[in-house]
Amino acid sequence: MTDIPGLKLKKAPRLAPTREEAEDAVRTLLAWAGDDPERSGLANTPKRVVEAFEERFGGYREDAASELARTFEDVSGYSDMILLRDVRLESHCEHHIAPFTGLAHVAYLPNKRVVGLSKLARVVDIFARRLQVQESLTAQIGETIQQSLAPLGVAVMIRAVHQCMTLRAVNQPGAIMETTHFTGVFADDESWRRRFLDAVRERPGA
Ligand SMILES: [Zn+2]
Repeated sequence: MTDIPGLKLKKAPRLAPTREEAEDAVRTLLAWAGDDPERSGLANTPKRVVEAFEERFGGYREDAASELARTFEDVSGYSDMILLRDVRLESHCEHHIAPFTGLAHVAYLPNKRVVGLSKLARVVDIFARRLQVQESLTAQIGETIQQSLAPLGVAVMIRAVHQCMTLRAVNQPGAIMETTHFTGVFADDESWRRRFLDAVRERPGA
C-alpha cells in the first residue's frame, strides 16, 4: 500500500500543552508582533484564537475510518458508481496555517458494501480540519474509503483556492488547485476515470 503522509495519526512526541499554555503562546506572538497583549482590546484574543484552533483543527480528535464502520449490504443489486459532489471543504495549509477552501468530489464503485452519504462528507471534514497539504488531504480521503469499505475503486477530486496564494508575493487570488486520487478501477481503467472526471467537470463554474 502507498505510504500516505498523515493517514495514520501519530501522537505528538511530548505531552499536549494545556489550554493556558496555548493562550500564553498566543500572547507571546502578539507581543512579538509589537502589540501589548494586556491592553483591553486584546485581553480575550488569546482565548478566542485557542477556541478557533480547537474548531479548525478538531479533526485531530476524530477518527475518519470509524465513520465508515457502519455499512449497508442490502442495496438491491445496485452496482454502479456512487458519487457525492460539491462537498464544501475548509482546511488550512500546513506551511502557513492559511485557509484553503473549495469543493471535494468523492466517488466509489461499491463491492456489496455502501455507507450513508453523510459519512463520506464526514471523512472529508475530519481530514480537512487538520493541517494539510492538498495533495495529502486528497490521498487521505481516498485511501481511508478504500481501506474501510474495500470497494472496487475510489475517486477523489479537490478543487480549492489557497489564501497563501493571495497573501504572499505570488498574488494569484483566483488560482484554483486541482488534485485527484484514484484507486482500483479508477486507477486502472481509463473509462471509469473518464466517467468520474466528466461527472465532476460537466457543469459550468464547477
Ligand atoms: Zn500555504
